[in-house]
This record gives sequence, structure tokens and C-alpha cells, in this order.
Amino acid sequence: MALPRRTDAQLRAAFTGLVVESLAVRQDVARRTVRCAACADVAAEENGDTDPEDPDVNGTDPSDAGSDADSLGGDSSPDLGVGDAVVVVLRNYEGFTWEIQDVSCLAHGVDRVADAVGVEADDQAVVSCVLEAAGYHSPDGTYHPDALTLGDVTVLDYSPAADGYPTSGDDR
Ligand SMILES: [Zn+2]
Repeated sequence: MALPRRTDAQLRAAFTGLVVESLAVRQDVARRTVRCAACADVAAEENGDTDPEDPDVNGTDPSDAGSDADSLGGDSSPDLGVGDAVVVVLRNYEGFTWEIQDVSCLAHGVDRVADAVGVEADDQAVVSCVLEAAGYHSPDGTYHPDALTLGDVTVLDYSPAADGYPTSGDDR
């Protein structure tokens, strides 16, 4: 028996305050950040790579050297923290608990379940939200005051379990 389709409001209620922690995604509790895997890949590729071409023809001032000490470009940091907008992929296993499958920055996020993980016979959703640090009461009774949680949730896509698996159309 398929589970009833959830409403947008039910999904938002389920995800708001959800702690960013799952088998697939781990937050850095000490730094209160979570990493965009795609950004981390990009950062790793750029690491050790010198600037390919710098078309800076006008900036010939030699006294400029040394002012660029911050070699790590702040723009490409893979770490997402409080106040950052993120795209989160979630899946509801067996109708019980929502599990975060992926957290990405807005640039790397997808907005459809089919593009993110593929549609399967579970409740699945892709949402955009803002990272908050509302704290988390873990099942063992410990309170983590700095844990990252989801806030300001907007449901981008929802694939109910009743949709089942996608029909390929060419089952020979
Ligand atoms: Zn990213």
C-alpha cells in the first residue's frame, strides 16, 4: 500500500529544523560548516594549479606584489555555514525518517529529484533552504547547541513513493 502523497506544507514542516547529519553528509561541528562536494572537487583541482592566464595588462605596478597574500580565493570555499543558502536532497526511508542525501551550494544544486539521485519508490524531495544553527537534540539525549539545521525551506521538487520507479518504456 503506497503512502499518501505529502503536501508542500507537510514537507516544509518535516524539513525545518532538521539537523544536517546523515550517513551521506557530515557537518563539521567544530567549525559549524558543511561542505559542498562539488565545490570541494573544484578546490582540489585548483589546488597547486597556478593561474593559467592573467590578462592583467594595465596593472604593471610592481609595488603591488605581496598585497595578494590571501591565496585561497574566498569565493570558491567549499564550506557552507550559517546563513548560506543551500540545495538539499532528501529521501524518506520506508516512510519513517527523512535522510539527507546531499547538500550543495546553489551553484551546484539541482532542482529535480530525477537529476539529483534518480526517482525510486520512496518519498524523495529536493529543497532549497538556509543553514541555521538552531541546535539539535540527538536521540541519545545530548544537546548540540551549534549543530547546523535547515531553515526557510522551499520545496523545489517532490517525488512521492506512489510514483514508483520510472517506467523505461522499452522493457524488451
Ligand atoms: Zn558548490
